[in-house]
Amino acid sequence: MMLIVDDRGNTYLIKGDADFHTKYGFLGAEQLKKAKPGSVLEANTGRRFHVLNPNVTDFVQKAKRGPQAMTLKDCSLIAGYTGLRSGSRVVEAGTGSGVLSIFLANIIAPAKLVSYEIREDFAGIATKNFEKFGIKNIEVKNKDIYLGIDEKDLDLVSLDLAEPWLAVPHAKKALKVGGYLSSYSPSISQSKKLVDALGEDFQQETFETLKREWKMDAVRPHTQMLGHTGFLTVARLLSR
Ligand code: SAH
Repeated sequence: MMLIVDDRGNTYLIKGDADFHTKYGFLGAEQLKKAKPGSVLEANTGRRFHVLNPNVTDFVQKAKRGPQAMTLKDCSLIAGYTGLRSGSRVVEAGTGSGVLSIFLANIIAPAKLVSYEIREDFAGIATKNFEKFGIKNIEVKNKDIYLGIDEKDLDLVSLDLAEPWLAVPHAKKALKVGGYLSSYSPSISQSKKLVDALGEDFQQETFETLKREWKMDAVRPHTQMLGHTGFLTVARLLSR
């Protein structure tokens, strides 16, 4: 995969093995095949396109997104607030389109992320995304996490599903003491049920974040913004 950035800041993630058309001009397959990271290509319109190596933030933003794929800001907060690092032992559910999975797997590599997904069709979409981006350290399990977690001694159980409270008893057994449970829910009533289920054994906080971008030529915020994504609960196991 290669990342193409045009002089207006638009980005395109492409294989680079065929002609590529944008509304600002077209790049030929021969031109793309010869390109390396750092190359600057000139389209038929005279516009310039930069070639870069893509990284995980490009994958998160460009992955084929099914319903409810997580945004980069929420992925980042989960990793930041749980202190994720290379080698961390992580289980997540559900896989969905695998956007959060890609983000987490990139951080914990060479450790393997285990991702539970109840729906085989979603597991299929996610697996295609992982193959496309060359991400190998993710194992998708076609299993219901509400019935149990096979893994033990985990640093993080990351939940993004409708009834996270049903996974709490299993997470409690699977986590290290001091390990984290994170949960992302679009509705605060889901967060409330989760928090009630966590009880006294976890230190916890629930929050949402609003990312407001600024139009720097006019030095004011953009008129439109993404008003709501989800609420995050981050909880740390104190004792069992
Ligand atoms: N974080 C994902 C989106 C998850 S959407 C992303 O960034 O792309 C929620 C997913 O949880 C759906 O695919 C759904 O099928 C799955 N799911 C729901 N209940 C589940 C359960 N009990 N066990 C495993 N997966 C479950």
